[in-house]
Amino acid sequence: MLGQTGAQPIFILPEGTLRQIGKDAQKTNIAAAKAVADSVRTTLGPKGMDKMLVDTIGDVVITNDGATILDEMEIDHPAAKMMVEVAKTQEDEVGDGTTTAVVLAGELLEKAGELIDQGIHPSIIIRGYRIAKTKSLEVLDKLAKTVTVDSPELEKIAMTAMTGKGSEAAKESLAKLAVKAVKSIIEDDEIDTDNIKIEKRRGGSIDDTELIEGLVIDKEVVHAAMPKTVRDAKIALIDSALEIKETETDAQIRITNPEQLKGFIEQENAMLKEMVDKIVKSGCNVVFCQKGIDDLAQHYLAKNKIMAVRRVKKSDMKTLAKATGASIITNLDELTEDELGYAGIVEEKKVAGEEIIFVRKCKNPKAVSILIRGGTEHVVDEAKRAMEDAILGVAAAIKSGKIVTGGGSTEVEIAKKLREFSETVGGREQLAINAFADAMEVIPKTLASSSGMDTIDTLVELRSLHEKGKTSYGVGVLKGKCIDMEEEGVVEPVKIKTQAIKSASEAAEMILRIDDVITASKVGSESSKSPGAGQGMPPGMM
Ligand code: ADP
Ligand code: MG
Repeated sequence: MLGQTGAQPIFILPEGTLRQIGKDAQKTNIAAAKAVADSVRTTLGPKGMDKMLVDTIGDVVITNDGATILDEMEIDHPAAKMMVEVAKTQEDEVGDGTTTAVVLAGELLEKAGELIDQGIHPSIIIRGYRIAKTKSLEVLDKLAKTVTVDSPELEKIAMTAMTGKGSEAAKESLAKLAVKAVKSIIEDDEIDTDNIKIEKRRGGSIDDTELIEGLVIDKEVVHAAMPKTVRDAKIALIDSALEIKETETDAQIRITNPEQLKGFIEQENAMLKEMVDKIVKSGCNVVFCQKGIDDLAQHYLAKNKIMAVRRVKKSDMKTLAKATGASIITNLDELTEDELGYAGIVEEKKVAGEEIIFVRKCKNPKAVSILIRGGTEHVVDEAKRAMEDAILGVAAAIKSGKIVTGGGSTEVEIAKKLREFSETVGGREQLAINAFADAMEVIPKTLASSSGMDTIDTLVELRSLHEKGKTSYGVGVLKGKCIDMEEEGVVEPVKIKTQAIKSASEAAEMILRIDDVITASKVGSESSKSPGAGQGMPPGMM
């Protein structure tokens, strides 16, 4: 890289460094961000297509979920990564609306690109976008309707959230379960969705999916002679192995005669028995162990009528601790009655030919599980994602107490209000605010095209309906025409929209602000040997 003073070039950056300045940098970044948006765009809405993702070791994921798609793709370009952040923020904050947020960010950038081409400076676009964002949030607040815990709308929210996620047939029953699950964990107006555990088991059909009060642990009782049902369960959670550790140094034990071997085995047995004795002494009758349990320890536990489960997932251990009030113990010497948890009943049952453990009537009655069922692995996986979206959607609606209509109706209304408002702003910012309004309409446009409707005709019709005050009209994707989304029951928590607008416009702003991209050559890579070979900064990364 060189600067120019007179005739003498001055090198200020190491050889091999790539640099893009001004419009070039903006163009490249916008193109990369757009490519990410385009990659998830077709999955939007109930008629959205699925993507099949195959990873480097050949594992296949089929999904329609924006966050999952972006998570599985290995995205490298820095601006593209910012778009992935948009999806992540949306996923973390709301749990649904990830595709919407990413598509919106892509469109905001596309429209900004057009304005830059017309010679408008990015800082003016940024200012206009900020004004438009604030205004949009105001419009949303006015449009939103109030819901309560008892509103029938909650089920509709769950259904809208699950739309297009492959569980169409059982949508109604799954939506009912989602609402029931969320309602059952409300505590003093607080909703901690961590209290809902979603477990999946292939087999049966999606209609067999059930809500269980308590926890489901996808494991089995470790020894045949142990009880399969324990009432008044006093539960110990242990995260160390109930085994004799292999000697960690290279010390060898030389056994020269049978007596010595016998003594050695006896000593090991005594150690295992001592471990079990400590467990027995605590008064527990159920053990969940995060690690392995030695055969002999199993035998001693069984003799003491203690049910034991081994290799329990760490996340399950935490959930168990929360639900039963037990502490997770590493050192068996610390295991006392005080550290034990409680559940009314712990039992092993067969589901679809395989054992599974149910922990019911927990000390904390708020803990519930949903056991997802379905014919194939892909069906249960996608149903699980649909259920997660539904649960978070319902929780978000109850928390914020506000909902809006979907199907692009809200976006069309925001666009309309923004255009009216931009008249009062004037100047070049007006153009940016109008661009923001146009960008909002990407949602109804994409929904229309997913159901084979003409995008321009649909938009024209929706705009004129909204002119007439029909604010809840949107794209009836399933019917193939513009309809009243409120009547159709397509409603969403307002938080999906506010968060999507916030993160999309912030990401767009961040990308627009960049006018200089300096990429250091990767040490030892091709590009360091051949500067300008285009490594590290391809114009479109896919
Ligand atoms: P996201 O990841 O953004 O949640 P989805 O694939 O879930 O993406 O699609 C959400 C969009 O689909 C929202 O705009 C929502 O209003 C719309 N939508 C959901 N159900 C329907 C329906 N039955 N008719 C029309 N639009 C719908
Ligand atoms: Mg969704």
